[in-house]
Amino acid sequence: MISQNIVQVEFVASTQYAIGARVPRTGLYVCVPCGYVEQFQEGELFPTCEACLAGTENGPEGFQEEEVEFWEFVS
Ligand SMILES: [Zn+2]
Repeated sequence: MISQNIVQVEFVASTQYAIGARVPRTGLYVCVPCGYVEQFQEGELFPTCEACLAGTENGPEGFQEEEVEFWEFVS
């Protein structure tokens, strides 16, 4: 009997989300500017990153606008 390993290669587009955007699927998301990872549930709205405050005027340089997309889906 031959056992086969099927390797699935999934293309993952680099999609980022801004504060107030709806979470498209439950999973882990990383804050791009600081690397903070948090789990969100589908249907929630993305918040400010509590680690670096991205999306506020106290956020990292280049991530101080509420419209900036910085949450990225991990898994
Ligand atoms: Zn952050």
